[in-house]
Amino acid sequence: MNINITINNNTIKAQTDLTILENLRENGIEIPTLCQMEGFSPTGACRMCVVEIDGEKKLKTACSTYPVEGMNIKTHSPRVIQARKKIVELLLADHPDDCLYCQRNGNCELQKLAADLHIRERNFPSHNTNKKRDLSGASIIRDPSKCILCGRCVRVCEEVQACTTVEFAHRGNETSIHTAFNQGINISNCINCGQCIMVCPTGALHEKNHLSGIQEALNNPDIKVVAQIDPGLPVSLSKTFNFKSGKDLSAMVIAALKKIGFDKVFDTSFATDIRIMEEAYLLKQKLDNNISGPMFSSDCPAWIKYAEQFAPEFLPQISPLKSPQQILGTLLNRHWSKKQDLKPDEVYSVSIAPCTARKFEAQRDEMTYKGISAVDAVLTTREFIEFLKINGIDILQMEDEAPDEPFSSRSSAAKITAVSGGGTEALVRMLYYLYENDNIDNFRIKQLRGFKNRKEYTAKMGKRSINFAAVNSQKEAKLLLDELRNGRKDLDYVEVMSCENGCICGGGQPIGNEDKYSKLRYKTLYDMDSKESIKESYKNPGLQKLYDALQTKPGDEQNKALFHTDFTKRDVYL
Ligand code: SF4
Repeated sequence: MNINITINNNTIKAQTDLTILENLRENGIEIPTLCQMEGFSPTGACRMCVVEIDGEKKLKTACSTYPVEGMNIKTHSPRVIQARKKIVELLLADHPDDCLYCQRNGNCELQKLAADLHIRERNFPSHNTNKKRDLSGASIIRDPSKCILCGRCVRVCEEVQACTTVEFAHRGNETSIHTAFNQGINISNCINCGQCIMVCPTGALHEKNHLSGIQEALNNPDIKVVAQIDPGLPVSLSKTFNFKSGKDLSAMVIAALKKIGFDKVFDTSFATDIRIMEEAYLLKQKLDNNISGPMFSSDCPAWIKYAEQFAPEFLPQISPLKSPQQILGTLLNRHWSKKQDLKPDEVYSVSIAPCTARKFEAQRDEMTYKGISAVDAVLTTREFIEFLKINGIDILQMEDEAPDEPFSSRSSAAKITAVSGGGTEALVRMLYYLYENDNIDNFRIKQLRGFKNRKEYTAKMGKRSINFAAVNSQKEAKLLLDELRNGRKDLDYVEVMSCENGCICGGGQPIGNEDKYSKLRYKTLYDMDSKESIKESYKNPGLQKLYDALQTKPGDEQNKALFHTDFTKRDVYL
């Protein structure tokens, strides 16, 4: 229902089903918040959004108060500004003064608020207790001394990722955010998705940085440093480099890496095509042998860790294929290095991806061969941008370069796997080819596109119907797993991506991942798919050469040694 309210002496139409904060935003009036997140119910924890309402003794939080007819609200009165200033001053008293060294310097919500509110001196004595950082994680670092207890990480972890790795502990002045039993994040149930980093307003959460190891390898003349670029990365730089309509910057990224000193730069999508093809053979085999229960995808390392901890009964149904990052890392380590006359430890292999969980994946025991990791370091999109700056590279001045042989070619199907549903669409195209010996008529499968948390699609192939589901966010995956536990039997294949909307919204993306930019990434990828001619993985021209060199064929038993892995039940603190 629409009503009239007065905001700062102006009458506006307000909707009664929206909070005061939402109504203000609808009318172009910004007020600060530190705990509120779009799509989440309000908590009023930070109290930054307080407003003054006529007739109310106390200031009210705009995020949790609804308007009523005739309400008279002041959003920036002296009393309101004073209250906001005091909150920030108190937060600063409990915050380390190390902005210059902080990961989030220049992109910190607390720093910005202090500047916006013109706080220029310390008004409360500093009592930061210099809490210990948790450096134990493979992907994520926690710095409790920078935590402002807004609770965003707690909510994302519980309400979106169904993990509850972090929780509020203690009360009053002692309140803090802990993992279970306050143990290291490495032995917690954290799935390393990095979504907590994406919502953290300060530098209390950030990824484990791999920049120094890479720089060291680049300075070592006895080591060949090679990179692989994830399909989601080059479409995620538009905001940083001001491409308003979205763009795939693959060719410029390759040129930049070469300029920095990488010996070779390969396209992870090459391995994505291998994965799609091999998985299609496995799925067909399962269907032809009438093996019940769906096959699950295995390319999201956060989903894999979730399943190992929370759904071990489904592990036998997870596709045994490694992720594209690890397939390409394995090929580099065990095949390419030999051809180059290099020992595996003379190759330093770097993956660049929009994902924090890939750091964890790269250091899994299963991903090493004779003690050597297939992938030595992983850079997130954020770290990659930092890496360009450290090396003085202006990416906009780069002349386009193609990826290096022999891992250079790809299908457009491999590119769309960065979006939730895209991996299934790529698999459907490939499976259709295996059943029909032909390409699917309409390559655009609209049931698998868009921004829903779950998409389902039934395809007719050969004499059968095959049912696919693609889910994103672990909360949605949990709902689907519960349906299967309760007897749902119709599904043949389930794609799980831990991040909402897939890797385009991964935990390693630039912070401030507004809807607008994820939509641009999505559009760029599907536009490429529409325009390019190689839409099925089996058409990737480099694959035949690789299989010939390996003396195998797609779907062969011998491929297991390179492309397969296994997953085991994992005991963690819950
Ligand atoms: Fe990483 Fe993509 Fe999985 Fe997110 S959805 S954890 S970015 S692989």
